[in-house]
Order: sequence, then C-alpha cells, then structure tokens
Amino acid sequence: MERSVKQIGQAEAYRTIRNFMIMPTVMKFGGTSVGSPDAFENVAHIIRTRLALSPVLVVSAMSGVTDALLASTVIASNGRADEAIGSIADVFTRHQSAAKTLLSQPTAQSYINHLEEARTHIGDYLKLITLRPAQLRSLQDAVLAFGETLSSWLLADVLNERGVIAVAVDARECVITDDEHGSAAPLMAETFAASQSLLLPLIETEWVPVLGGFIGASRTGRTTTLGRGGSDYTAALLGAALDAREIQIWTDVTGVLTADPRVVSAAQTVERLSYGEAAELAYFGAKVLHPKTIQPAIEDCIPVRICNSHAPDKVGTLVCAQTESTPRTVKAIAHKTGVTTVQITSARMLGAYGFLRALFEVFEKHRTVVDVVTTSEVSVSLSLDDAASLPSIVRELEQLGTVRVEKGRAIICVVGEGLRGTPGIAAQVFSTIKDINVTLISQGASSINFTFAIEEERVKEAVTRLHEAFFEEKAAGVGR
Ligand code: ADP
Ligand code: ASP
Ligand code: MG
Repeated sequence: MERSVKQIGQAEAYRTIRNFMIMPTVMKFGGTSVGSPDAFENVAHIIRTRLALSPVLVVSAMSGVTDALLASTVIASNGRADEAIGSIADVFTRHQSAAKTLLSQPTAQSYINHLEEARTHIGDYLKLITLRPAQLRSLQDAVLAFGETLSSWLLADVLNERGVIAVAVDARECVITDDEHGSAAPLMAETFAASQSLLLPLIETEWVPVLGGFIGASRTGRTTTLGRGGSDYTAALLGAALDAREIQIWTDVTGVLTADPRVVSAAQTVERLSYGEAAELAYFGAKVLHPKTIQPAIEDCIPVRICNSHAPDKVGTLVCAQTESTPRTVKAIAHKTGVTTVQITSARMLGAYGFLRALFEVFEKHRTVVDVVTTSEVSVSLSLDDAASLPSIVRELEQLGTVRVEKGRAIICVVGEGLRGTPGIAAQVFSTIKDINVTLISQGASSINFTFAIEEERVKEAVTRLHEAFFEEKAAGVGR
C-alpha cells in the first residue's frame, strides 16, 4: 500500500483503522417514523435487520405530540391550567393505545404506569406555568421533553419484545447544554465525555441504546431543548461523540430532494451532497435536516445518510466531504417563508468605519439572528427569520439612517458546489422568474449558494418554475 497517512488525511486514516473495531451507527427516527403502532413495528423491523451496524437509536416524539405539548403550555401561560391539561388528553390516549397494540399485557401495563406518572408530572408543570409565567421557557422545556421520553421508552419496550436487547437511556445524561431554554447549545466536551461513558459500555456488550432526541440538560440538571426539529442534531452530536461509522436520519421521504416535495411534486432524490451543500439547504428551509446537523459530522468526516423509513430499501442521500462531480451544477433549491427584510440607508456609511459594527450591535443586543446580508455604498439590506423584536430594533436603527422594512418575504436558495465558477446560472435563475421582483441578491462566500428574496405569495410559483428549468426533462438550460 503506497498511500501515506498524509495522503488520505488523518481523520480518514483513523476511521479506516477504527473500521476494524466496533463503530456504532447512530440511527435517528423522526416523528412520522414513530407516528403510529404500524410505524413503530416498521422501525423495529428496520433495526432488527441492521443489528450488525451496532445501532444507537435516537427517536423523536410521536408526530404531533411536540406541537400539542407546546400548545398546552401556551394555554397554561394564559392562566388556564385545566384547559391546558384537557388539551393533551389525546397525547396519552395515543401512547396508551400504541402500547396496548404493540406490547404484551404485562409490559404494556408497566409502560402505562409510567405514562400515568408522566401525566401527573406534566399536569404539575402546567399548573406551575400559570403560577410562574416568568419561568415559561424553562417549564416549557420540561413539558416538551416528555414527548421524546415517552416515545423512547416505548421503542425500547417494542424492541425488547422482538428479541433486540434495548435500553432506554435518558438523553439528559448525555447531552449537556447551556441554559438557553428553547434553543440550548450543547457543551461539546461535556456532552462527548458523558455520551462516551454512558453509551460505549452498552455498545460493547451489544445492547442497543435508545435515546430521545431534542432534549438535554444544563450543568445544573435542568431540562433544555435544542430547538424545533432538534432530534437530528442529537443524532449528529452522538455520532461525533461516539465516532460513529455513519449518522442515519430516517424520515418520511427518500433523502434530500431537489426541492421541497410539498411544493414540487416532481422533486427527485439527490444521491450525494457535500457537507457544505447540505448545510446550506438545511439552513435555507429544507426541513428534512435540522440546520445544525452537519456541523458535528464534519470534523471527523462522518457520513450522514438520509433514508426513508417507509421505503427502507430505496437509496436516499449520502452527505459526506466530497461531492460527486455531476454534469448538473445546481443540486437542489431550498426556500423559506415568513422572512422580513430590513434596509438601512445612510450617507454616513460612505467611507466611514464603525458603521456596520454599530448596526450589527443592534441585532446582537436584541438577540436576533441575521440571515442574508448585502451592502452598497450607502445602504445595507438584510433578512431576519425572527421579527419578534423588530419594533425596538427599528427604533434603534433609525438612529443610524432611514429604515425600510418589508414583511412577508421568502428566501430562495439555489445550491450546488462550484456554482460561482459556472457561467450562466444567475442568468438562468433570473430569466426563469423574470416577472417576479427580486430583492436582496447574495452569492454566498462559500461559492455553493445563490440566494435571493422575493414576495412570499409568489414563492411556490418561483420554486416550481426554477425546478422545471433546472431539473425536469423538458429543461435544456445551463447547468445540465
Ligand atoms: P422528521 O419528523 O422525520 O424529522 P421532518 O418533517 O422534520 O421529518 O422533515 C421531513 C420533511 O421535510 C419532508 O416530509 C418534506 O416535506 C420536508 N422537506 C422540505 N424540503 C425538503 C427537501 N429538499 N428534501 C426532502 N424533504 C424536504
Ligand atoms: N419533537 C421535536 C419537534 O417536533 C424534535 C424533533 O422532532 O426533531 O420539534
Ligand atoms: Mg425533522
């Protein structure tokens, strides 16, 4: 073998050696993959046929459960605890009937006993929310965590009754985070150490750990959550902590598609994406992956595979360091709605330093994330997802210049490695939607995205037309 360690890269060499040792595969099943008794049965089948991969399982709450729990906390925060408790009766009925359908009588009974304890605890938290509305965010996390906890207990029981030795592990003992309730950031060193010490012994004895995604705990032991859709992120964190062979995201579609299938029915599976491409797509609206999922995988070059739990034998999408060089430069189109754009115009900007710092300090002060930014000599345009603090932000920005706010915008992001070096892509995008007013055009520094804003009402039409132009048979455009 002539290839040196240097040539193949240290991380890859290490992984080659580790291939001969036990390398787990982290498999995450989303809400629709555990939405019903049949879906649980299906997941159990997928796992039983993949035990050789040393699975570590991450599971979301049953579909709709997080939404219902969240809505109940809002009702409670309006002082209506009894109504809040009543509003989630269906959550318990669904788990109970799934347990009765899937488990033997004694196991089902023991699960239902735990379910009843959970019902009591959730009720107590909801009452506490009405008494202490100032603690809403932390109490909300405590309530939401039950969604993932209940589904992970159920999956562990289902597996055990089907011959797989599975152990429910409380994710709060593995994922250690800061105190930012609702969108907590994991503390990497602590999370890695805790996950390794808890999970590696189980993996080595060939037991299958089952963890709820999305949830963690602060250093002081308070329950936190990683943000909506965060179970993907849990899977990626555990994958990195355990130096997994692969991180698999099992969902209800066959991989990352060329566009959102809810908008474009002709969207097709993208077989391979680079980490950068997948991150851009996730960030700009491809809900199939939580935007933070890719980050933990990058450092150790862990492949991320997106698979369809309803069609497990279909080839989904493989996300890894190298992208396949395809004749097509555009790989996929993502979009997100509910965006606000803000334009600040000021002659003071001309040749002055410190202006941009002052401007971004306003957003920092209000903890508001800025997505896309473009500048000219005298103006800055930017886009925001979260406009909750907008009135105060605008008031402060007005000290710097004239401010124009446009609500009801959508961002469209055309993604493909090497986009910048391919002539004609922008021309084709704009000629395809030439009758739609485009603002805030940005070609990312990464050279793999081309992003712009339009009016929200026209986003479906725009994405459909762009998809036709770049991906559908009749197209004969640039990049194919
Ligand atoms: P899960 O519950 O498994 O986490 P999500 O609902 O979070 O699943 O994500 C899967 C959904 O993402 C799909 O059903 C699809 O509607 C949506 N989606 C949006 N954009 C894309 C895309 N480009 N490729 C695949 N799915 C997408
Ligand atoms: N159950 C959580 C949510 O609905 C986390 C997830 O599904 O990834 O956001
Ligand atoms: Mg999801």
